[in-house]
Amino acid sequence: MDLGIAGKRALICASSKGLGLGCAEALAAAGVNLIMNARGAEALNASAEAIRVAHGVEVTAITTDITTAEGQSQVLAAAGDADILVTNAGGPPPGMWSDWDREDFIKALDANMLTPIALMKAMLPGMMDRGWGRVVNITSQSVRAPIGVLGLSNAARTGLTGYVAGTARQVAGKGVVINNLLPGIHATDRADALDGGVVKAQGITLDEARAKRAATIPAGRYGTRHEFGAACAFLCSQHAGFIVGQNLLLDGGATNLTM
Ligand code: NAP
Repeated sequence: MDLGIAGKRALICASSKGLGLGCAEALAAAGVNLIMNARGAEALNASAEAIRVAHGVEVTAITTDITTAEGQSQVLAAAGDADILVTNAGGPPPGMWSDWDREDFIKALDANMLTPIALMKAMLPGMMDRGWGRVVNITSQSVRAPIGVLGLSNAARTGLTGYVAGTARQVAGKGVVINNLLPGIHATDRADALDGGVVKAQGITLDEARAKRAATIPAGRYGTRHEFGAACAFLCSQHAGFIVGQNLLLDGGATNLTM
């Protein structure tokens, strides 16, 4: 399918690895020029170069922490009048409800709620003026069904979801659509880190931890960044203009819901 977005420009935050990289690769395959970002220069530059070579699109790589005001300014200056925004950042650490104090919540809210809101606030006006825009926020399945050990994530991402629900309906009339993608378990470094916690807590091997988690997913496996990126690219396409303020679960059926 021709996604109809060749030649457009996309800012994809936190995209040197994992789900952000999957989105960058899929948009580049559709002919979109990219502004990519991560904190670590080595992986970011390697991923940016691999995408240039594979897809022949322009890629600008900005090494900075997207959760800081300075990082956001740097990335926004490079993005200019980009047509597409994909928000993403690392997820908060796991723990118990009794572990976290105010500072932990502020950090999680900054990364997974206030950063995407700041980026949307900066970029939506230009998209609305030009009459076309796409925003995809990478959130989590924890928005639909809480994950006990990820209370910081449950809290911050649900806040973002509420903001998007209202804002998406305020900008849709100007040709700008905002939606959220909710990953379940995908085979990325983040999944390895969470599985590593289970290895320690339960005294099992990494393979055993993975097999245990895969068994909780009706699809019987972890998702891939390529599957995730393809869904993102569709939500950024010309065909997605009537999909407004939705929360799309990509979890292999793991969240047991009727709707
Ligand atoms: P990942 O494999 O660990 O990749 C994270 C990417 O984000 C890396 O490129 C990392 O590069 C970059 N990054 C992290 N913090 C950043 C920051 N402050 N500023 C700029 N770049 C940053 O993670 P992932 O699995 O793709 O997860 C992406 C998001 O989806 C996370 O919020 C995660 O919690 C959420 N999620 C993932 C899963 C899953 O199963 N994978 C499930 C549900 C939700 P640097 O470290 O070099 O900055």
